[in-house]
Amino acid sequence: MNIDIESPTIKLPRIKILATGGTIAGSAAKSTQMSEYKAGAIGIQTLLEAVPQIKDYANITGEQLCQISSNNITDDIWLQIADRVNAIFQAGDTDGIVIAHGTDTLEETAYFLNLVIKNEKPLVLVGAMRPATAISADGPNNLLNAVRLAGNPEARNKGVLIAMNDEINGAREATKTNTSHVSTFRANELGYMGYINNGEAFFYRASLRKHTLNSEFSLKDLVSLPYVEIIYGHANDSRILVDAAVNAGARGIVYAGMGNGSIHEKAEEGLIAAQKQGVVIVRSSRCGAGTVKGGPIRYSKEKFLTGDSLNPQKARILLSLALTKTDKLDEIQRMFNEY
Ligand code: ASP
Repeated sequence: MNIDIESPTIKLPRIKILATGGTIAGSAAKSTQMSEYKAGAIGIQTLLEAVPQIKDYANITGEQLCQISSNNITDDIWLQIADRVNAIFQAGDTDGIVIAHGTDTLEETAYFLNLVIKNEKPLVLVGAMRPATAISADGPNNLLNAVRLAGNPEARNKGVLIAMNDEINGAREATKTNTSHVSTFRANELGYMGYINNGEAFFYRASLRKHTLNSEFSLKDLVSLPYVEIIYGHANDSRILVDAAVNAGARGIVYAGMGNGSIHEKAEEGLIAAQKQGVVIVRSSRCGAGTVKGGPIRYSKEKFLTGDSLNPQKARILLSLALTKTDKLDEIQRMFNEY
């Protein structure tokens, strides 16, 4: 469904909202239900009706792309969203785009788009931790902030942004850190890009890593993404899941290792065998902070790559996109060093 909310003021930024579902569009039987609700139940029209003030800040058009709980997101939906965003920007009549999204995989969609959208105009992802029907729902103010941020020229060329809880995060660094708090998105060590105060954005930093216009990745002619699996390392680990991933046709494996990307010796046997069959192995960490760059020399002899400071779920995205361009290990490592 497409909607149009014309503002009486002509100089307002032209913002497109793409709705995909999530808790921001969640509905529960009672206003006290914070965790038992149906994500994605409410359409974009109703979402916008909850924030009539939005028309004071932007001329809004909206589209419902899908209505899912974002834990069910797929590569196909990502390709559809990215195609739509690229097409809207190319058409030239939109100043910024807001994507309303579930928070579970919001950081992944944000990082994927950060690598494949070819435009410097603001692209802001927004979600909510409480359903739209909840007492003190956080969605309406998050949505208003996101729209204002998308219309702010200072948000240009900073990569894909996340606006929630009066904070501005960058797609590369931010991750969901809390199962229920409204302050869930944090960029642990590298920090917020800025704050939103009284609806106004204040920027303090930007990522130096490549994104959007400087990204070499393109979705042109792509109908699917290479299959990359994540294997989570743990005490008493084995090669069972590594072998299963290889048998299922994985072209890459991100090993979410212990500490500095350490691998259980049993899993390592499986990863060496996988690498010999051409599967690209990237060591990452389950620590949630820090960077995996070096490590025992044996891992480089085994030709395992390192995932830098990307968390495993983002390393998976970069590896998948890297495999659309090359299977040369040096080249893929360069990408991990640059993005
Ligand atoms: N399960 C929901 C989703 O990701 C959670 C949320 O939006 O906060 O769609």
